[in-house]
Amino acid sequence: MKYVATATRRYRMELPGHDWFEPVTTDNVHRVVNARRTARIAGLQLVVSLLPLQVEEMPACYWCRARPRAVEYDCDGAYRTATCDSAQCREARRLTYEGIIAHPSYHRGDQALRIVKPVRVRTTDGPRPGVVTVDEYEDITCLCGNISSYAGFHECLPGGALVGPDHPEWNGLWWCAGVGCPGVIVDCREPAVYADEPGAPAKVVVTEL
Ligand SMILES: [Zn+2]
Ligand SMILES: [Zn+2]
Repeated sequence: MKYVATATRRYRMELPGHDWFEPVTTDNVHRVVNARRTARIAGLQLVVSLLPLQVEEMPACYWCRARPRAVEYDCDGAYRTATCDSAQCREARRLTYEGIIAHPSYHRGDQALRIVKPVRVRTTDGPRPGVVTVDEYEDITCLCGNISSYAGFHECLPGGALVGPDHPEWNGLWWCAGVGCPGVIVDCREPAVYADEPGAPAKVVVTEL
């Protein structure tokens, strides 16, 4: 996982000589500006001091890999999402989900794009988490969980460049468009074989996500 440094500036606001005012510490600069304006209107001397910068290493948004992941809350408390909440990044994600732009695949994971040969499974076998599989109907399931009816797979070249199915050099590589995929190209250049078939040289690739 990639980490990015974030710096938070905190401000402490005091009203010297006014015991009724509890000193306030905040990282919201708009709140400071508003408080200063209010104090000036009221004829009070608000003292704002800058607290030392708080620098933290935060997990980076898996999408833009530039901003810290957003924090959200549910019944279990605070948790970190997979993405940041910057408007620019959100818009890029939306356009990609709608198929308007293809996000460069090297941006999506921390590991380089890997070409993975799928293992043949039967639909009745149940899920194989962490393994790229293809079933008897040639439906691919990526190790990230993506399937063709969800985010889908795109024809690509070995370097990850997306091409059309009629591209002369395309010969069966599928770029996984799964959100959160560490960057997998599914290699369907040769028919996949059942892992449990006697004598089958199928290699099961298990990836830690
Ligand atoms: Zn982002
Ligand atoms: Zn995937």
